[in-house]
Order: sequence, then structure tokens, then C-alpha cells
Amino acid sequence: MKPDLKSLTHDEITRLLIKQGHPTYRATQVVQWAYERAAESFDAMSNLSLPLRQWLASEFDLWTVKALRDQRSTDTTEKLLWQLRDGQLVETVLIPATPGLTSCADRHTVCVSTQVGCAYGCKFCASGLNGFRRNLTAGEIVDQVLAVVRMGRTTGIRVGDAPPVPDPEFRVQNIVVMGMGEPLANYDHLMKALKIINAPWGLNIGSRKITVSTCGLPEQIKQLANEPMQIRLAVSLHGTNDTVRDQIMPVNLKHPVRELMHACEYYAKTKGRMMTFEYILIEGVNDDLNLADQLTAMARRLHAKVNLIPYNPVEGLHWRRPSLDRCHAFAARVKSRGVAATLRIEKGGDIAAACGQLRLQTMRDKPPVTPAVP
Ligand code: SF4
Repeated sequence: MKPDLKSLTHDEITRLLIKQGHPTYRATQVVQWAYERAAESFDAMSNLSLPLRQWLASEFDLWTVKALRDQRSTDTTEKLLWQLRDGQLVETVLIPATPGLTSCADRHTVCVSTQVGCAYGCKFCASGLNGFRRNLTAGEIVDQVLAVVRMGRTTGIRVGDAPPVPDPEFRVQNIVVMGMGEPLANYDHLMKALKIINAPWGLNIGSRKITVSTCGLPEQIKQLANEPMQIRLAVSLHGTNDTVRDQIMPVNLKHPVRELMHACEYYAKTKGRMMTFEYILIEGVNDDLNLADQLTAMARRLHAKVNLIPYNPVEGLHWRRPSLDRCHAFAARVKSRGVAATLRIEKGGDIAAACGQLRLQTMRDKPPVTPAVP
């Protein structure tokens, strides 16, 4: 495989083109075509000379993802399955925020993947079921967002039953790094991708609109705290003590709750920013009201918000979602102690939106063997 252009920063492209004898403004033109215009091919970069276009095409791939499947939920969430150049599959979810199901979305959040599969094997998650394959490159992370932008501009995003309408001004406002894989286990590629997504010459999405989620890697949480970018942190807690976490999250055997909380304290102190605890409610595992009290105590100490997400069942896994009454009671208990908590009835339940499910279904139907044509 050739290197992918979108793994390079503007500066890196500039240095490469200078070495080839081109003036610096050529690099600016290249990144404008790549990001502002989401160009389909090097050939489309019409203000570059033919020899430069040919050289770029011989040295780099412009796109790293190819749409393979596209599923829309009745609640307007859209799940995309991409084939990468080596035939591997990853998922991206587009979550439009609409004033109503039939009106146009005014904000778009894209949830991206950072790895093919996942090595962390959380027991409730589809992404880790077939193990870990590889890290995504920075360009493969960036391309998930840019391909959605391109889709919004060229074919449009469908809302409800209305046909999609292309929107030349289509933009993505928020990024959540909560798709397949553990983002902080692919730290360097993730950070490079986020710098490109954040850069004014790149996707120009504000760092405060970017949330990175982790299952709890203490060293990398501290590393993230020391980054100059003001990225938001979401910790997938799902359990407030080692007994619960050990049962559902093998990462806890290596990094127990106490160690994770130390890292979170370091993050909160260093960044001075509110973090979020993600807490998937699983029947009989972590939905006891005593655990709500423990969660409240942890959130208060760290000044964290809490997102409560009733479990989205995964085919082949035996975990169940608690009753809605139980979920509401848990949320009420957390809120009653003054913690900002939201109960999220997960979007996209009818399209296998829990991370990794669409990929698993597709692999069962037909394992990917043919490399994608970029
Ligand atoms: S929840 Fe996240 S870290 Fe855990 S297995 Fe799934 S993708 Fe990996």
C-alpha cells in the first residue's frame, strides 16, 4: 500500500513538495483540495500541473475508505461500514441533531473508529469479539469524517422518509472518538488525526467539540492531560468498583479502579475541565442503586458529568438491558445528589449501532477478502 496523503500535516506536505522543487503555495493548494473541497481524486485538483498530479498519484493514496454498507435508523442515526485498502472493515456513525424527524439537521456528530477490532475485550461489546487486527492510520481516522462530509455535500443525508438532498455547505460540528477500538491504545495516530481534524487548513473542527473516550488506560490519560489541545475526555466506567469492572472489563485486571481514578484526578487537575463518565446500565450487573451512590461519589469528587446508557443488546451476548423504570430510578438517584446526569436511550438500536455490530454481521455474511479500490 502507498502512504495515505491525509496522514500528513500541511507542514509535512510542504516539505515534501519543496524537495520536489515546488513552491510552498502548492502544498496549500493540495490541502485545500483534500479538505475544503474533499476532492475525489488527484486528477480533480485542476489548478495543479499535470506532472504534479501524476507524481502525487504515484506516491500517495488520496482516499482510504470505501463505503460498503449504509444503514439508517428510524431516529435518523446513520451507520456506515467502510472497507479499508487492505480489505478490513470499520464503522462510523453519523448522528444528526434534528429539531424534528422531518426537518433538516442543524448539527452533525460523527463517531469514528480508531482500530480494526479491539484487544480490550469488554464483555458487553461487539467490537472486541473477533479480537484485534490493527491500528488505523491517522489518514484512515480523518477519512471517516471527510467521507461523511463528502457524502453530505454530494448525495445528501437522508432525514426520516424524505429523499436525501445534497447540501454544498454540509459540515460536521462534533467528533466523538467512541467507535471501534480503544483510541488511547493507538495514541500517536489518534493525536495526529485530531490535529488534522482540528487544524484550520484541515477539517477546522474546534478541539472543544472533540471527545475522546477510553476504557481506562491511566498512563495515556495522563499523557492526554499534558497535550495542549483542549480535547474532552470520556471515561467508559461502567462499574464503580473492581468487583463489577473485573466482571465486564478485562482492562480493570491490569488497571484497577483506584489507578484509573488517580489518572482521572490528574487529568481534571491539569486540564481544569469537566470530564464525562460513560456508564452502560446492564441488568443485574451494575444497575443496583447502591452502585448509583458510589457513582455519584466518584463523579462529585472529580466534578464529572455522567452519561447513563441502557445496554444495547448485541447478538450472541447474554447481557440484558434493565427495565426503563430501573434505568430512570438509577438516573434519579444519581441526579438527586447533585450530579449532572443524562439518561440516553441509545440511538440507532434498530441498525445495530452498538459499536462493532454492523461489521460483525457483515463478516458473518461475507468475510472481506478483496482489497478496496481507493
Ligand atoms: S468497549 Fe471499547 S475498549 Fe471495550 S472492547 Fe469495545 S471497543 Fe474495545
